[in-house]
Amino acid sequence: MIGCSILYHLTKLGWTDVVLLERDELTSGSTWHAAAGIHGLHDHNNISRLQYYTMQLYEDLERETGQGCGIFQPGSLYLAQTRDREHQLRMQAAKAKYFQVEFHELGRDEAERLHPLADFDGIRCIMYEPDGGNVDPSGVTHAYAKGARQRGAEIRRFTPVTATVPRADGSWDVETAQGSIRAGVVVNAAGLWAREVAAMAGIELPLMPLEHQYLVTETIPEIEALGRRLPLIADRDGEYYMRQEGLGLLVGAYERDGRYWAEDGTPMDFGHELLDEDLERIEENLLRAFARVPVLEKAGVKRVINGPMIWSPDSSALLGPVPELKNYYCCCGIIPGFSQSGGLGLTLAQWIVDGEPEKDLFPWDLARFGAWANRAFTRARTLDQYAHRFKIHFPYEERGAGRPLNTRPVYEKQKSMGAVFGLSYGYEHPLWYAPKGVEPVETYGFERQNWFEPVAAECRALREAVGIIDVSNFAKYRVHGAGAHDYLERLVANRVPAETGRSCLTPMIGLRGGIAGDFTITRLGDEDYLMIGSGIAERYHRRYFDRVGRRESVSFDSLTEAWAGFNVAGPRARETLAQLTDADLSRSGFGFMRNRRISVAGIDAVALRVSFSGDLGWEIYVPVSRQLELYDALLDAGRAWHARPVGSRALLSLRVEKGYGSWSREYSPEYWPQEVGLDRLIKLDKPEFLGREAYLAIKDRPPREKLVVARVDTDDADANGGEPVFLTDGTPVGRVSSGAYGHSVGASLALCFVRADHAVAGTELDVAILGLPHRAVILEKPPFDAAGERLRA
Ligand SMILES: Cc1cc2nc3c(=O)[nH]c(=O)nc-3n(C[C@H](O)[C@H](O)[C@H](O)COP(=O)(O)OP(=O)(O)OC[C@H]3O[C@@H](n4cnc5c(N)ncnc54)[C@H](O)[C@@H]3O)c2cc1C
Repeated sequence: MIGCSILYHLTKLGWTDVVLLERDELTSGSTWHAAAGIHGLHDHNNISRLQYYTMQLYEDLERETGQGCGIFQPGSLYLAQTRDREHQLRMQAAKAKYFQVEFHELGRDEAERLHPLADFDGIRCIMYEPDGGNVDPSGVTHAYAKGARQRGAEIRRFTPVTATVPRADGSWDVETAQGSIRAGVVVNAAGLWAREVAAMAGIELPLMPLEHQYLVTETIPEIEALGRRLPLIADRDGEYYMRQEGLGLLVGAYERDGRYWAEDGTPMDFGHELLDEDLERIEENLLRAFARVPVLEKAGVKRVINGPMIWSPDSSALLGPVPELKNYYCCCGIIPGFSQSGGLGLTLAQWIVDGEPEKDLFPWDLARFGAWANRAFTRARTLDQYAHRFKIHFPYEERGAGRPLNTRPVYEKQKSMGAVFGLSYGYEHPLWYAPKGVEPVETYGFERQNWFEPVAAECRALREAVGIIDVSNFAKYRVHGAGAHDYLERLVANRVPAETGRSCLTPMIGLRGGIAGDFTITRLGDEDYLMIGSGIAERYHRRYFDRVGRRESVSFDSLTEAWAGFNVAGPRARETLAQLTDADLSRSGFGFMRNRRISVAGIDAVALRVSFSGDLGWEIYVPVSRQLELYDALLDAGRAWHARPVGSRALLSLRVEKGYGSWSREYSPEYWPQEVGLDRLIKLDKPEFLGREAYLAIKDRPPREKLVVARVDTDDADANGGEPVFLTDGTPVGRVSSGAYGHSVGASLALCFVRADHAVAGTELDVAILGLPHRAVILEKPPFDAAGERLRA
């Protein structure tokens, strides 16, 4: 199905010299035996948008092609059995208001009228999505196929791809038993066989198939008597799904005790086959479904489907060009394929044709996983994802499966100091530190959790004296050799420092003129630069780095693994660091945005006078082998000022107080520089840099939205990102990108994208925290040290 959708969307964007090669008959992967339920809302706003696009597309496809898609939209009833689920559903209802789609609360009477066979006892809250339903897997696939053919595409069935061989010019020879095809672009949409097809190009995808079962009952007389279609039941606390199929019911389950399938590789000859049923494994889930809809107890089972589906470590798609290959794209690992097929096809087609998708889809981008997502990790995570498919994933949740994966030398020391860790691009990274006597384990929920007070203490320590933040998870690149300066000038939009000892902040502009990255570039010496960027985007950024030609003399090396770093920050940072170095750290001797190679505690280090916390501070980078030594020395040197380790949750609060944006939250190619305030760093007098022409094309356009800082009136839960934002009359005007309690300013804060005509200081808004309106006001300036005096002290 997904391959056909991509083909269809490519033709829609005007590409007709396209062919889909299918090993067998169309639909012969996971597609043919899917339950094919569809829904619109997702935790991530852009994915919701694309799911709505998909649901709408099926009707258009039917009209366009005459091929039925078997669309049933009797609506879906979402049930909450717990307080947290109620919060989640209320949040979804608020988002629906933002997207201006229907998803609203129903009283029990109304729910019983819609689904007279369900028992709603024990349900705290019921939401109704009128567009929920299901489609026919084969109909949808053939509709995409027909639409694509009508627009000029070709489909060759029974034509398995046996090899993909890259050519020097970036094109590919795609081998089949019927001959070879020279392709400018290759897309791997091989579903259950995505791993095997990827291996043909020499790459490994973090994917693992698991078995999944549902059953279909015989006709149920009560349904037959009803004479209309029942809505779906999404009782996620019960960990099953249920919809009408024919005149019976279909019940599927994600059991805790999941089973891998074909771990070592999907057999090439696996066709329209099913796996042995094992209803015992899903018995508990089924019993919960039977209790909800008691007619199921008497219904005969017509068939049981046990089919494989292939999962990524976070259940999201692996989408986009493979950074290490030329002209090779993937669209694999798709779980809710019927809700997402159109959006995925459109996005990938845009990516191929225009070089970049229109929307920020980092959560779908395959580059979010690096080589660190190895087989053991993938195995552990996919099973965890499967088993917890319907679990509420709370803000800031860190899953334990497959960890610890990689650790740096300070790991044990941090652990001994109470660190609670999260996974940061494959490495254990401290989130916060539990005080003595408190177990270093975090709780999860939509409201403030057990880390609120410890994080407050970390923020206070830094703002009042000094804190030491592990920033080893930042991406670090060294660019050096004759031509390094010229290369960087052509890569980024700001002027690259020409004087040793200077650093600059700079955006990198994407192919549509948006923000593809933000970096600190430091000139260490003649043709020798250190570039610091977002750690989670290292593989993502490689696509852009490789778009700009480099002379052979320029080497571009990642130091992310080889180097470690600490940010020493706070009003006592200078005194702390001075204990360990002879270097002149005075304001005149080591000013803001300056850098120097200095010796810290006898270790050769690169020191940058920058600080993401917004306070006086230095980032100190050393080889990772010296990390522990440096850490001990810094903590020791700051003892007089009670220096303490500060984790990334505190850093979030500190940066939000300063209004600083962060990659994939405030910065993405979707946002224009003038919308996020980075246009001031773009030097158009430079004749050439990546994205310059694209930026020129949008530069004078008025911003669609603007990034603002708002103070939010709340006392039990803070915004954390994704919450919709309304005017006080209920008009949707934006959404939160990052949120946190600002401990130094004593206020709950949110960075929000707000429609430009309303992004005015003093404007009152309602931010939907826990799905309920919380009054907020747009601030004129970031609440902490807007003038930057602390930073420049
Ligand atoms: C039991 C079950 C229930 C499900 N229920 C739902 C649901 O309710 N809602 C929902 O949205 N999703 C559901 N899904 C998931 C859904 O089936 C998938 O998201 C979707 O089918 C993925 O489609 P695909 O095209 O990516 O992969 P696939 O269907 O696996 O297609 C891959 C295609 O690639 C072809 N191929 C492989 N190797 C080669 C090669 N070397 N050369 C040429 N062709 C090749 C295969 O033959 C196949 O046709 C369910 C899945 C299962 C197993």
